[in-house]
Amino acid sequence: MDAKERITTLTRLLNTYAYQYYVEDNPQISDFEYDQLYQELVTLEKQYPQYALDDSPTKRVADKVLDKFEKITHVVKMMSIDDVFSIGEVEKFVEDIRKINPNAIFNCELKIDGLSVSCIYENGLLKVASTRGNGTVGEIVTDNAKTIHAIPLKLTKPISIEARGEIFMPKKSLLKLNQERKEEGLDEFQNCRNAASGTIKSLDSKIVAKRNLDNFMYTLLDDKGVVTQDGALKELEELGFKVNKEGRVCHDVQEISDYIEYWRTHKDDLPYPIDGVVIKVNELNTYDEIGYTVKSPKWCIAFKYPAEEASSILRSITFQVGRTGVVTPVANFDTVYISGTDVSRATLHNEDFIKLRDIRVGDVIKVRKSGEIIPEVFAVDFSKRKADSKPFQMIEYCPVCGSKLVRNDGEADYFCLNPNCKARILNSLIHFASKPAMNIESLGDRLIENFYNLGFIKSIPDIYHLYEKRDELIKLEKLGEKSVDNILSSIDVSKSNNLDKVLFGLGIRNVGAKVATVLCENFDTIDKLKNATVEQLTAIPDIGLVIAESVVSYFKNEANLKMIEELRSSGVNMSYKKRNTVDGAFAHKIVVLTGNLKNYTREQASDIIISLGGSTSSSVSKKTDLVLAGEKAGSKLTKAQALGIKIISEEEFMEMIKAKEDVNE
Ligand SMILES: [Zn+2]
Repeated sequence: MDAKERITTLTRLLNTYAYQYYVEDNPQISDFEYDQLYQELVTLEKQYPQYALDDSPTKRVADKVLDKFEKITHVVKMMSIDDVFSIGEVEKFVEDIRKINPNAIFNCELKIDGLSVSCIYENGLLKVASTRGNGTVGEIVTDNAKTIHAIPLKLTKPISIEARGEIFMPKKSLLKLNQERKEEGLDEFQNCRNAASGTIKSLDSKIVAKRNLDNFMYTLLDDKGVVTQDGALKELEELGFKVNKEGRVCHDVQEISDYIEYWRTHKDDLPYPIDGVVIKVNELNTYDEIGYTVKSPKWCIAFKYPAEEASSILRSITFQVGRTGVVTPVANFDTVYISGTDVSRATLHNEDFIKLRDIRVGDVIKVRKSGEIIPEVFAVDFSKRKADSKPFQMIEYCPVCGSKLVRNDGEADYFCLNPNCKARILNSLIHFASKPAMNIESLGDRLIENFYNLGFIKSIPDIYHLYEKRDELIKLEKLGEKSVDNILSSIDVSKSNNLDKVLFGLGIRNVGAKVATVLCENFDTIDKLKNATVEQLTAIPDIGLVIAESVVSYFKNEANLKMIEELRSSGVNMSYKKRNTVDGAFAHKIVVLTGNLKNYTREQASDIIISLGGSTSSSVSKKTDLVLAGEKAGSKLTKAQALGIKIISEEEFMEMIKAKEDVNE
């Protein structure tokens, strides 16, 4: 088969697989097989760019980062929809429509809680995607929309149309994204809608591609053959769009009301966020006659579900001390059931948050889940306030160590400044060992707290002296020789972590995982970074003044410098190896890991492989270059042997890493 033919076949195959996966939710091949075909296409297109097709899946992520979004004037205004909140208002809407068209029927659709998008196709190819903006002028986000697999790059017919719908973030994607942001010390998104709109406004489509946005289309413009809304949905589906399957044609108010009530109780079970039901007249040719107000069509309304909330009694406000010393007030209230879960605690953020709302212990409070994810106290029922209730008073002393708390000018938070505060130390130790930092897997939160209480680990450097206590540890209850050795070996392995992991682990204020990597890319040893000035730091694109000042002040502190020296003398790596993708020991190699390794966790081994230019996969196939086989390797090893793939032992793996290090030094 020649290259042109193969490129065509691969494009068609990959687009079919992606459609089955993203639109039909019915994957037909493994992610691994997909990736292999995708890589083959990337390679061929690099060699023969003239044969690359317009709808090639490789065009979903743009190479360039935009400076700003261009604007577009919508040919047909993207109007907003009037909200109603009661069945009475729905009745009135139906009556009004029936005055103009006595036989009108209605199409009810779920109101997806994301942001509206318009996609313009010319001769079947996606040309422009834009946001609603102010309804008249929107922003062009074509590169970002292309990363969303549910939006076809090419329609099944070569026609020119505009499709409109909603870009949204599935609930699962939000949880995953927030987890990552939490680990990086970034603010979490309040709900799916904010996350979706924050994401689509990113100027770098690579970021958008990672966030797993999704899309449902519901409006089809310029298609003369379509006469009803339910027909439009069918046509959109046939053109290759993802269409929400829950839409129903309803003939009267009773059917509409049943639809609304059904989804009121079932909406929390959906994998995507909805905040209501959109009711549209089904006959498209009556729209002009029914008409428009200045800002919305009269042939359509949105029934909005109220945000679920519950009343409870605030029993106490307690305080948590984080590793940076920040003191966070937490509301503890009688358990209430909201949006599918029991809730009895919610953060109150800081003193200002509480005082602004005049929240007091003993109050009847209103609690809701913003975006049905994070619980919040949003109001107080003042009519039920007890006469003897007292206004909230921020604590003056750390609840853990008793030292005086400090609130700096311009900041909302109080801090415990005592570096020896137990809460601060414990949380810093937990952070240091955590997965995104040093990834000392067998040293979990509980164990750290136990070791701290027993006096084995009082500071970060103590972690690397734990081996001296091996005999004592083995005698501890519930900790046999084997688990102690596991802990000690995972601590030992962490010494060779790259510098960005160490730097993030140190817990410098405002230095999240990403910032740590950026700093290491620019200062490849801790000694260079230690001497960096604010001017040098702010000269780096992603580093602002706040981060720069944090870094400089961290390295001015004698105690911090002493800690770093202690870590260094214990053998912790203090220099940065750039991730070498070109000539690493595993450059361009696909490696499969199987069996148990003695000196590495799977994750560590795979990090090393990736850092040395390779990639890892979970299953063995003809494309596999190497199999790293540990003890008790099973079927993957057998398969690799059958396929004649090169197999290496853990010892050989260590040799390969070492050989490369020798060359580099
Ligand atoms: Zn304290």
